[in-house]
Amino acid sequence: MKIGILGGGQLGRMLLQAAANYTVETYVLENDPNCPSAHLCHSFTKGDITDFDAVYQFGKNLDAITIEIESVNVDALEKLQAEGVKVYPHPSAIRIIKNKITQKQFYKDNGIPSSAFVITETKEDVLNHLSLLPAVHKIGEGGYDGKGVQIINNKFDVDKAFSAASVLEKKVSIKKEIALIVAMNDTGETALFPASEMMVNPALNLLDYQISPALIPEKVLWVVEAVAIKLVKALNSPGLFAVEMFIDQNDEVWVNETAPRVHNSGHHTIEANYCSQYDMLWRIMLQYPLGNTDPILPAAIVNIIGEDGYSGNAVYEGLEDVLKTDNAFVHLYGKQTTKPGRKMGHVTIMHKDYQDLTHKANKIKNTLRVKAN
Ligand code: ADP
Repeated sequence: MKIGILGGGQLGRMLLQAAANYTVETYVLENDPNCPSAHLCHSFTKGDITDFDAVYQFGKNLDAITIEIESVNVDALEKLQAEGVKVYPHPSAIRIIKNKITQKQFYKDNGIPSSAFVITETKEDVLNHLSLLPAVHKIGEGGYDGKGVQIINNKFDVDKAFSAASVLEKKVSIKKEIALIVAMNDTGETALFPASEMMVNPALNLLDYQISPALIPEKVLWVVEAVAIKLVKALNSPGLFAVEMFIDQNDEVWVNETAPRVHNSGHHTIEANYCSQYDMLWRIMLQYPLGNTDPILPAAIVNIIGEDGYSGNAVYEGLEDVLKTDNAFVHLYGKQTTKPGRKMGHVTIMHKDYQDLTHKANKIKNTLRVKAN
Protein backbone atom coordinates (compact mmCIF):
# COMPACT_ATOMS: atom_id res chain seq x y z
CA MET A 1 0.00 0.00 0.00
CA LYS A 2 1.12 3.53 -0.79
CA ILE A 3 -0.23 5.95 1.80
CA GLY A 4 0.26 9.71 1.88
CA ILE A 5 0.11 12.24 4.70
CA LEU A 6 -0.77 15.89 4.13
CA GLY A 7 1.38 17.92 6.51
CA GLY A 8 4.82 17.13 7.91
CA GLY A 9 4.71 18.25 11.53
CA GLN A 10 5.26 16.26 14.72
CA LEU A 11 1.96 14.40 14.40
CA GLY A 12 3.08 13.15 10.99
CA ARG A 13 6.44 12.24 12.45
CA MET A 14 4.92 10.06 15.17
CA LEU A 15 2.52 8.55 12.64
CA LEU A 16 5.52 7.60 10.49
CA GLN A 17 7.32 6.05 13.46
CA ALA A 18 4.34 3.71 13.89
CA ALA A 19 4.24 2.94 10.15
CA ALA A 20 7.64 1.28 10.42
CA ASN A 21 5.90 -1.75 11.96
CA TYR A 22 3.89 -2.44 8.82
CA THR A 23 4.42 -3.05 5.13
CA VAL A 24 3.47 0.36 3.85
CA GLU A 25 5.15 2.90 1.62
CA THR A 26 4.80 6.37 3.11
CA TYR A 27 4.55 9.71 1.30
CA VAL A 28 4.53 13.20 2.81
CA LEU A 29 3.47 16.52 1.25
CA GLU A 30 4.70 19.64 3.04
CA ASN A 31 6.21 22.98 2.13
CA ASP A 32 9.14 22.87 4.54
CA PRO A 33 11.78 20.30 3.48
CA ASN A 34 13.23 20.38 7.03
CA CYS A 35 9.90 19.61 8.72
CA PRO A 36 9.75 16.92 11.48
CA SER A 37 8.42 14.28 9.03
CA ALA A 38 10.73 14.91 6.08
CA HIS A 39 13.33 12.25 6.87
CA LEU A 40 11.09 9.48 8.20
CA CYS A 41 8.99 8.84 5.10
CA HIS A 42 9.84 6.89 1.94
CA SER A 43 9.10 9.86 -0.29
CA PHE A 44 8.93 13.54 0.53
CA THR A 45 7.24 16.04 -1.79
CA LYS A 46 7.72 19.74 -1.25
CA GLY A 47 4.40 21.43 -1.87
CA ASP A 48 1.51 23.42 -0.49
CA ILE A 49 -1.17 21.28 1.19
CA THR A 50 -3.73 24.07 0.63
CA ASP A 51 -3.15 24.09 -3.15
CA PHE A 52 -5.51 22.03 -5.34
CA ASP A 53 -2.93 20.89 -7.91
CA ALA A 54 -0.25 20.12 -5.33
CA VAL A 55 -2.61 17.88 -3.34
CA TYR A 56 -4.18 16.25 -6.40
CA GLN A 57 -0.84 15.46 -8.08
CA PHE A 58 0.53 14.13 -4.78
CA GLY A 59 -2.48 11.90 -4.16
CA LYS A 60 -3.43 10.54 -7.54
CA ASN A 61 -1.10 7.54 -7.51
CA LEU A 62 -1.64 6.66 -3.86
CA ASP A 63 -3.93 3.98 -2.41
CA ALA A 64 -4.92 6.10 0.58
CA ILE A 65 -4.27 9.51 2.05
CA THR A 66 -4.64 11.06 5.50
CA ILE A 67 -4.03 14.42 7.14
CA GLU A 68 -2.16 15.66 10.18
CA ILE A 69 -3.73 19.14 10.02
CA GLU A 70 -7.18 20.31 8.84
CA SER A 71 -6.07 23.26 6.71
CA VAL A 72 -5.76 21.22 3.51
CA ASN A 73 -7.33 21.53 0.06
CA VAL A 74 -10.59 19.62 0.52
CA ASP A 75 -11.66 20.02 -3.15
CA ALA A 76 -8.61 18.05 -4.25
CA LEU A 77 -9.33 15.36 -1.65
CA GLU A 78 -12.90 15.11 -2.95
CA LYS A 79 -11.67 14.58 -6.50
CA LEU A 80 -9.17 11.97 -5.31
CA GLN A 81 -11.89 10.17 -3.39
CA ALA A 82 -14.17 10.21 -6.46
CA GLU A 83 -11.32 8.63 -8.45
CA GLY A 84 -10.92 5.79 -5.95
CA VAL A 85 -8.22 6.99 -3.54
CA LYS A 86 -9.30 6.24 0.03
CA VAL A 87 -9.29 9.37 2.16
CA TYR A 88 -9.12 9.21 5.99
CA PRO A 89 -11.14 11.00 7.23
CA HIS A 90 -13.61 11.57 4.40
CA PRO A 91 -13.31 15.02 2.82
CA SER A 92 -16.94 15.69 3.86
CA ALA A 93 -15.90 15.38 7.53
CA ILE A 94 -12.84 17.61 7.05
CA ARG A 95 -15.04 20.22 5.36
CA ILE A 96 -17.43 20.35 8.32
CA ILE A 97 -14.65 20.55 10.90
CA LYS A 98 -12.27 22.88 9.08
CA ASN A 99 -14.46 25.87 9.70
CA LYS A 100 -15.63 26.54 13.27
CA ILE A 101 -18.91 27.94 11.94
CA THR A 102 -19.90 24.81 9.99
CA GLN A 103 -18.59 22.70 12.87
CA LYS A 104 -20.85 24.43 15.41
CA GLN A 105 -23.78 24.20 13.01
CA PHE A 106 -23.14 20.46 12.62
CA TYR A 107 -23.30 19.97 16.41
CA LYS A 108 -26.57 21.89 16.57
CA ASP A 109 -28.12 19.96 13.67
CA ASN A 110 -27.12 16.60 15.15
CA GLY A 111 -28.12 17.16 18.76
CA ILE A 112 -24.52 17.21 20.02
CA PRO A 113 -24.32 19.33 23.18
CA SER A 114 -22.20 22.42 22.43
CA SER A 115 -22.60 25.92 23.90
CA ALA A 116 -25.10 28.36 22.33
CA PHE A 117 -23.68 30.52 19.54
CA VAL A 118 -24.28 33.10 16.84
CA ILE A 119 -22.33 33.79 13.67
CA THR A 120 -20.71 37.24 13.42
CA GLU A 121 -18.95 39.10 10.62
CA THR A 122 -18.15 42.41 12.32
CA LYS A 123 -17.61 43.93 15.78
CA GLU A 124 -21.08 45.49 15.47
CA ASP A 125 -22.55 42.00 15.17
CA VAL A 126 -20.89 41.16 18.48
CA LEU A 127 -22.33 44.33 20.05
CA ASN A 128 -25.75 43.18 18.91
CA HIS A 129 -25.41 39.98 20.96
CA LEU A 130 -24.33 41.27 24.35
CA SER A 131 -26.83 38.89 25.97
CA LEU A 132 -24.52 36.00 25.02
CA LEU A 133 -21.68 37.46 27.11
CA PRO A 134 -19.50 36.31 28.74
CA ALA A 135 -18.60 34.62 25.49
CA VAL A 136 -15.73 33.27 23.43
CA HIS A 137 -15.13 34.65 19.96
CA LYS A 138 -13.54 32.28 17.45
CA ILE A 139 -12.46 32.94 13.88
CA GLY A 140 -14.20 30.54 11.49
CA GLU A 141 -11.12 29.52 9.59
CA GLY A 142 -7.41 30.14 10.00
CA GLY A 143 -6.99 30.13 13.79
CA TYR A 144 -4.82 27.51 15.52
CA ASP A 145 -3.40 26.76 18.98
CA GLY A 146 -5.52 29.36 20.71
CA LYS A 147 -4.69 32.12 18.19
CA GLY A 148 -7.97 33.18 16.65
CA VAL A 149 -9.77 32.84 19.99
CA GLN A 150 -10.74 35.85 22.17
CA ILE A 151 -12.61 35.92 25.45
CA ILE A 152 -15.27 38.64 25.41
CA ASN A 153 -16.42 39.06 29.00
CA ASN A 154 -18.20 42.41 28.67
CA LYS A 155 -18.94 45.16 26.18
CA PHE A 156 -15.54 46.78 26.82
CA ASP A 157 -13.86 43.65 25.43
CA VAL A 158 -15.69 43.94 22.10
CA ASP A 159 -12.70 45.92 20.81
CA LYS A 160 -10.80 42.60 20.77
CA ALA A 161 -13.49 40.95 18.63
CA PHE A 162 -12.65 39.71 15.11
CA SER A 163 -13.88 41.50 12.01
CA ALA A 164 -14.19 38.25 10.08
CA ALA A 165 -16.66 35.39 9.82
CA SER A 166 -16.57 34.02 13.37
CA VAL A 167 -18.48 32.14 16.02
CA LEU A 168 -19.52 33.95 19.19
CA GLU A 169 -20.32 31.25 21.71
CA LYS A 170 -21.40 31.34 25.33
CA LYS A 171 -18.53 30.87 27.73
CA VAL A 172 -18.78 27.59 29.62
CA SER A 173 -17.98 27.64 33.32
CA ILE A 174 -15.31 24.96 32.96
CA LYS A 175 -14.52 22.45 35.69
CA LYS A 176 -12.46 20.21 33.44
CA GLU A 177 -11.24 20.18 29.86
CA ILE A 178 -11.00 16.69 28.47
CA ALA A 179 -10.41 15.00 25.15
CA LEU A 180 -11.44 11.60 23.93
CA ILE A 181 -10.10 9.91 20.83
CA VAL A 182 -12.49 7.75 18.84
CA ALA A 183 -11.37 5.40 16.09
CA MET A 184 -13.78 4.21 13.39
CA ASN A 185 -12.93 1.76 10.61
CA ASP A 186 -14.42 1.37 7.12
CA THR A 187 -17.17 -0.93 8.39
CA GLY A 188 -18.25 1.48 11.13
CA GLU A 189 -16.72 -0.41 14.07
CA THR A 190 -15.49 1.96 16.78
CA ALA A 191 -12.90 1.93 19.56
CA LEU A 192 -12.56 4.58 22.28
CA PHE A 193 -9.37 5.61 23.98
CA PRO A 194 -9.61 6.55 27.67
CA ALA A 195 -10.42 10.26 28.15
CA SER A 196 -7.54 12.64 28.86
CA GLU A 197 -7.73 15.64 31.15
CA MET A 198 -5.85 18.84 30.35
CA MET A 199 -4.50 21.82 32.11
CA VAL A 200 -4.22 24.95 29.99
CA ASN A 201 -1.60 27.66 30.32
CA PRO A 202 -3.80 30.79 30.36
CA ALA A 203 -1.00 33.05 29.10
CA LEU A 204 -0.22 31.06 25.96
CA ASN A 205 -3.59 29.33 25.60
CA LEU A 206 -1.58 26.16 24.93
CA LEU A 207 -1.92 22.78 26.59
CA ASP A 208 0.22 22.86 29.72
CA TYR A 209 0.18 19.27 30.87
CA GLN A 210 -2.22 16.43 30.64
CA ILE A 211 -3.26 13.34 32.59
CA SER A 212 -4.86 10.18 31.27
CA PRO A 213 -7.17 8.41 32.06
CA ALA A 214 -9.04 11.52 33.19
CA LEU A 215 -10.25 11.58 36.77
CA ILE A 216 -13.97 12.00 36.24
CA PRO A 217 -16.98 10.30 37.86
CA GLU A 218 -18.18 7.21 36.03
CA LYS A 219 -21.58 8.73 35.26
CA VAL A 220 -19.98 11.74 33.60
CA LEU A 221 -17.65 9.45 31.66
CA TRP A 222 -20.66 7.56 30.28
CA VAL A 223 -22.05 10.84 28.93
CA VAL A 224 -18.65 11.84 27.53
CA GLU A 225 -18.32 8.52 25.71
CA ALA A 226 -21.89 8.55 24.41
CA VAL A 227 -21.51 12.10 23.07
CA ALA A 228 -18.19 11.29 21.37
CA ILE A 229 -19.56 8.16 19.69
CA LYS A 230 -22.71 9.95 18.55
CA LEU A 231 -20.59 12.74 17.07
CA VAL A 232 -18.29 10.42 15.13
CA LYS A 233 -21.22 8.32 13.86
CA ALA A 234 -22.88 11.55 12.67
CA LEU A 235 -19.69 12.55 10.83
CA ASN A 236 -20.10 9.20 9.11
CA SER A 237 -16.43 8.77 8.24
CA PRO A 238 -13.71 6.28 9.05
CA GLY A 239 -10.58 7.67 10.68
CA LEU A 240 -9.41 8.93 14.02
CA PHE A 241 -11.23 11.77 15.79
CA ALA A 242 -10.21 13.66 18.92
CA VAL A 243 -13.28 15.15 20.56
CA GLU A 244 -12.42 18.03 22.91
CA MET A 245 -15.04 18.60 25.58
CA PHE A 246 -15.74 20.76 28.62
CA ILE A 247 -17.25 19.43 31.83
CA ASP A 248 -18.95 22.37 33.55
CA GLN A 249 -19.48 23.09 37.25
CA ASN A 250 -22.76 21.09 37.12
CA ASP A 251 -21.02 18.11 35.51
CA GLU A 252 -22.72 18.80 32.19
CA VAL A 253 -20.78 17.88 29.07
CA TRP A 254 -20.22 20.30 26.15
CA VAL A 255 -18.29 19.63 22.97
CA ASN A 256 -15.70 22.33 22.27
CA GLU A 257 -14.28 21.07 19.00
CA THR A 258 -13.19 17.97 17.12
CA ALA A 259 -9.93 17.23 15.35
CA PRO A 260 -10.35 14.69 12.51
CA ARG A 261 -6.86 13.24 12.90
CA VAL A 262 -4.22 12.09 15.35
CA HIS A 263 -4.06 14.62 18.16
CA ASN A 264 -1.75 16.10 20.76
CA SER A 265 -4.04 14.75 23.51
CA GLY A 266 -3.01 11.23 22.47
CA HIS A 267 0.78 11.45 22.45
CA HIS A 268 1.01 9.35 25.62
CA THR A 269 -0.74 6.40 23.94
CA ILE A 270 2.63 5.55 22.32
CA GLU A 271 3.91 4.20 25.64
CA ALA A 272 0.90 4.15 27.94
CA ASN A 273 -1.72 2.19 25.93
CA TYR A 274 -1.52 -1.23 24.27
CA CYS A 275 -2.39 0.32 20.92
CA SER A 276 -1.34 3.91 20.27
CA GLN A 277 -3.47 6.41 18.37
CA TYR A 278 -0.86 6.30 15.61
CA ASP A 279 -0.89 2.51 15.37
CA MET A 280 -4.69 2.66 15.36
CA LEU A 281 -4.82 4.93 12.32
CA TRP A 282 -2.54 2.56 10.36
CA ARG A 283 -4.75 -0.36 11.34
CA ILE A 284 -7.74 1.53 9.98
CA MET A 285 -6.02 2.54 6.72
CA LEU A 286 -4.49 -0.91 6.16
CA GLN A 287 -7.86 -2.61 6.85
CA TYR A 288 -6.54 -4.46 9.91
CA PRO A 289 -8.54 -5.13 13.10
CA LEU A 290 -8.83 -2.22 15.54
CA GLY A 291 -6.34 -2.36 18.42
CA ASN A 292 -6.73 -2.55 22.20
CA THR A 293 -6.99 0.98 23.63
CA ASP A 294 -6.68 -0.07 27.30
CA PRO A 295 -4.16 1.89 29.36
CA ILE A 296 -1.11 0.00 30.61
CA LEU A 297 -0.51 2.63 33.30
CA PRO A 298 -1.84 6.16 33.93
CA ALA A 299 0.24 8.74 32.10
CA ALA A 300 0.99 12.45 31.99
CA ILE A 301 2.19 14.49 29.04
CA VAL A 302 4.33 17.59 29.48
CA ASN A 303 4.82 19.72 26.39
CA ILE A 304 8.29 21.02 25.70
CA ILE A 305 7.68 24.58 24.61
CA GLY A 306 10.09 27.27 23.39
CA GLU A 307 10.98 29.56 26.30
CA ASP A 308 10.07 33.25 26.15
CA GLY A 309 12.90 35.46 25.01
CA TYR A 310 14.77 32.79 23.01
CA SER A 311 14.78 32.38 19.24
CA GLY A 312 17.28 30.43 17.15
CA ASN A 313 19.03 27.05 17.28
CA ALA A 314 17.37 25.05 20.04
CA VAL A 315 19.27 23.97 23.17
CA TYR A 316 17.54 21.67 25.67
CA GLU A 317 18.52 22.60 29.22
CA GLY A 318 17.85 19.94 31.86
CA LEU A 319 17.42 17.14 29.34
CA GLU A 320 19.83 14.79 31.13
CA ASP A 321 17.93 15.12 34.40
CA VAL A 322 14.68 14.30 32.66
CA LEU A 323 16.25 11.29 30.94
CA LYS A 324 17.32 10.02 34.38
CA THR A 325 13.71 10.09 35.62
CA ASP A 326 12.09 6.64 35.84
CA ASN A 327 9.32 6.05 33.34
CA ALA A 328 9.82 9.37 31.56
CA PHE A 329 9.87 9.14 27.76
CA VAL A 330 11.32 12.06 25.84
CA HIS A 331 10.13 12.96 22.34
CA LEU A 332 11.95 15.76 20.54
CA TYR A 333 10.33 16.70 17.26
CA GLY A 334 13.51 17.43 15.34
CA LYS A 335 12.83 21.15 14.93
CA GLN A 336 16.12 22.94 14.57
CA THR A 337 15.00 26.38 15.65
CA THR A 338 12.99 27.44 18.66
CA LYS A 339 10.84 30.52 19.27
CA PRO A 340 8.65 31.53 22.20
CA GLY A 341 5.67 29.19 22.51
CA ARG A 342 6.77 26.79 19.76
CA LYS A 343 6.01 23.11 20.47
CA MET A 344 9.43 21.46 20.36
CA GLY A 345 8.63 18.08 21.90
CA HIS A 346 6.89 16.36 24.77
CA VAL A 347 7.66 14.05 27.67
CA THR A 348 5.37 11.20 28.67
CA ILE A 349 5.52 10.05 32.28
CA MET A 350 3.91 6.85 33.48
CA HIS A 351 3.06 5.84 37.04
CA LYS A 352 0.30 3.92 38.78
CA ASP A 353 -0.16 6.74 41.28
CA TYR A 354 -1.73 10.04 40.12
CA GLN A 355 -0.06 12.12 42.81
CA ASP A 356 3.30 10.87 41.71
CA LEU A 357 2.41 11.63 38.09
CA THR A 358 1.43 15.22 38.84
CA HIS A 359 4.52 15.72 40.96
CA LYS A 360 6.81 14.37 38.24
CA ALA A 361 5.02 16.35 35.52
CA ASN A 362 5.55 19.59 37.43
CA LYS A 363 9.16 18.72 38.15
CA ILE A 364 9.84 18.02 34.48
CA LYS A 365 8.07 21.23 33.45
CA ASN A 366 10.36 23.17 35.75
CA THR A 367 13.54 21.29 34.80
CA LEU A 368 13.40 21.23 31.01
CA ARG A 369 13.88 24.55 29.24
CA VAL A 370 14.22 25.23 25.54
CA LYS A 371 16.66 28.04 24.94
CA ALA A 372 18.74 29.08 21.94
CA ASN A 373 22.45 29.46 21.38
P1 ADP B 1 -8.02 26.25 19.27
O1 ADP B 1 -8.76 25.58 18.16
O2 ADP B 1 -7.23 27.42 18.82
O3 ADP B 1 -7.29 25.29 20.16
P2 ADP B 1 -10.26 26.31 21.11
O4 ADP B 1 -11.58 26.47 20.47
O5 ADP B 1 -9.91 24.94 21.57
O6 ADP B 1 -9.14 26.94 20.17
O7 ADP B 1 -10.16 27.29 22.34
C1 ADP B 1 -8.96 27.45 23.09
C2 ADP B 1 -9.26 27.47 24.57
O8 ADP B 1 -10.18 28.52 24.89
C3 ADP B 1 -9.94 26.21 25.07
O9 ADP B 1 -9.02 25.19 25.34
C4 ADP B 1 -10.66 26.72 26.32
O10 ADP B 1 -9.78 26.79 27.42
C5 ADP B 1 -11.08 28.11 25.93
N1 ADP B 1 -12.46 28.07 25.40
C6 ADP B 1 -12.85 27.83 24.12
N2 ADP B 1 -14.19 27.84 23.99
C7 ADP B 1 -14.69 28.09 25.22
C8 ADP B 1 -16.02 28.23 25.77
N3 ADP B 1 -17.12 28.13 25.02
N4 ADP B 1 -16.12 28.48 27.09
C9 ADP B 1 -15.04 28.61 27.88
N5 ADP B 1 -13.78 28.50 27.44
C10 ADP B 1 -13.58 28.23 26.13
